[in-house]
This record gives sequence, structure tokens and C-alpha cells, in this order.
Amino acid sequence: MKVVRAYKFRLYPNKIQAKEMQTHLWLSKNLWNDGLEFAKQLYVDYQLFPSRQAYQEISKYSGMHSQVAQDVLIRLYLAIKVKIKRKKAGLKGGFPRFKSTDRVKSLHYPQSGFSLSGRKLKVTPFGEINIKKHREIYGAIKTLTLKKESSDRWYAILTAEAEVQPVPMKQGEAVGVDLGLMTFATLSNGEWIKKPRHMKKYEAKLAFRQRELSNKKLGGKNRRKAKLMVARIHVRVADTRKDWLHKTANNLLSRYSLIAFEDLDVQGIAEEHGKGISDAGWSIFTNIISYKAESAGCAVVFVNPKNTTKDCSHCGTCVQKEEHEREHNCPSCGLSMDRDLNAAINILNRATGGTPGCRERRNVPEHAQGRIADLDK
Ligand SMILES: [Zn+2]
Repeated sequence: MKVVRAYKFRLYPNKIQAKEMQTHLWLSKNLWNDGLEFAKQLYVDYQLFPSRQAYQEISKYSGMHSQVAQDVLIRLYLAIKVKIKRKKAGLKGGFPRFKSTDRVKSLHYPQSGFSLSGRKLKVTPFGEINIKKHREIYGAIKTLTLKKESSDRWYAILTAEAEVQPVPMKQGEAVGVDLGLMTFATLSNGEWIKKPRHMKKYEAKLAFRQRELSNKKLGGKNRRKAKLMVARIHVRVADTRKDWLHKTANNLLSRYSLIAFEDLDVQGIAEEHGKGISDAGWSIFTNIISYKAESAGCAVVFVNPKNTTKDCSHCGTCVQKEEHEREHNCPSCGLSMDRDLNAAINILNRATGGTPGCRERRNVPEHAQGRIADLDK
């Protein structure tokens, strides 16, 4: 089967290149706005919308690489088409809008106009740009997007299509994972994954810079500088975190055949758990695991999160607890264990069909069993 993957690399354009790329973002914005103006005028005059050919013609005079310009107008053409379709179906939905310079951050090369060799990315018309290619690209490169992020840094996003052999499902242990605030994850076998210390360090640095930023005068030069600084730390925090999340995901994928999480997208449940969506770390983590699972021969299951913290993982009794109570103590069967471990076992049971009401000690790992008091009295 064929799989398309995206690869993101940092670019180091020289001053002239950076300035030119910035100009092309501006051209791209103008082209979009001109195309939109044209569509609006055509509709006012003739109640018609521009054809694809008409847009192709306009794209020739943009001053940009022909394919990049065409891509801008094709996106506009499709956006208008969607709007017409929606209107016919009696649905609301805005007409495409005029864009300001801040809104246009990328240039898309759908086919050609670029080539990659070693540490240089050759892009028409900017020439050879230095690129930090920190990982191998598998398969044939298809598209390039040049993207400027809020940290004022440029990135190249390349997509490549590769032939992938389906991996047979592996046999072996299953694990339930409870994602938390204090501990990053608690596994149903009693292991803990702690948040790494270096992430905390960056978070502290970020908080400091953010305070500094809020003290700067609005509109001042120093404020812009401080803003850039904050954006840069954001990038570093995100990179460090992503790197760690990838390593942690690989570790779990290599050890288990089935990994179960709570489905935290189920509405209302996240709040009930005190797990606001604020910490994007969880969804990034479960996304990484999900998309890597297939090639690792792993199954990933998302279970209903209702009462995973309250239900007793041994007898199924619902045991109410406050957010600060770290222990699960079951009045019915006497099970006493860490609250997150109890939740992780519930998650595993739900994923594997183990019924919590049964008296077997199925899925309760040996060292956790040691902490079960007077189970069979
Ligand atoms: Zn119980």
C-alpha cells in the first residue's frame, strides 16, 4: 500500500532569499485578493463565477512561480465552488474572504519548481536555500510547502509517497494507559511515565519571558522583540515535547500488542475528569501512537472514559472520590490501590472485554495484586 508522509525541516535562507520569500508571500496575498475581487465583480455584472481556465489565465501575471500561483487560485476556485454547493443545499457558510499580509504564511509547490540535494533545497526563484535535513525521506518527493512561522523562522514541508508493506499484527501483552496531570501516564501493569524534567525547565523559561512581554509598552519595538522571543521559546518547548512524546510512543509500541486509552474526545468527560483540553500533550501523544500503530503491528483502542476513575477495577463497584484523593479504596471488595492504576486497569478491561464484575484477578498484574487487601474474604 502507498503512504504519503510529511517531513518538516528548518530552512536557513540568506537575507536576500528571506526578503524575496517575504515578497512572494505578499504577491500570493495580492493574487488571492485580486482573484476574489474578480469573482465578486463577475457575479455583480453577469451573475457568473470565474471558470478554472479564467483563473489559470490570471495566474500567469502574478510574478510568482506558475504552479505556486495556480495553486493559490485553485484553492480560491474550490472555496467558491464549495460555497455555491452549500448555498444550493440551503446551508450557510461564508464566501472566501480577502486576506491580510499576516494571514498568508506559506507558498505551496504542488509538483515542481524545487529539488533537494544534500543540505540544499533549490527552489525557483529563490535559488539554493540551506536546509537542515535531520531525518531520511522515504519514497518519492511530491510536494513542497515553504512556511514562515510566527517565530520568523522558515520551514520546508515536503511530502513523499512510499510503498509500505503491511505489518502483521504482533502477539503479546496488552496495556491500559491512564494519562494524567501529575504523572504523564500510569500503565495498567503498575509502571509510571513521569513528565521529563527538561520540559519543566523550558516551561519556567517561557513563563518568565511571557511576564516580561506583558510589561512592555504596546506597539513598541521592544514589545515586538519580546514577542519574537516568546514565539521562539514556544517553538523550542513544542519541539522538545514532541521529541519526547515520539520516544515515549515508540517505547510503548515496541513493548505491547494492544494499547488502550480513554477516548477523551467524548464531550463533557474531559471536564468531569479535571482533564481540560488545555494540555495538548495527550492528544498529540495519542495521535502519534495511532498513526505509528499500523506500521508497528499494534492495535490502539479508545474506550469510553465514563467512570474509569470511580469504578473498582476488581468488582465494578462505583466508588466516589474527590480530585485530591490519590487512592482507590473499595468498600465492597477491599481493593486498595493507586487511583490512576485503578483507572488504567479499567481502561485495559474495557478494551479487552474483561468484565470488572468478575471475581477473577484477570489483568491485575502480580505486583499490583500484592496491594490488594483481603480480596477473597
Ligand atoms: Zn471492588
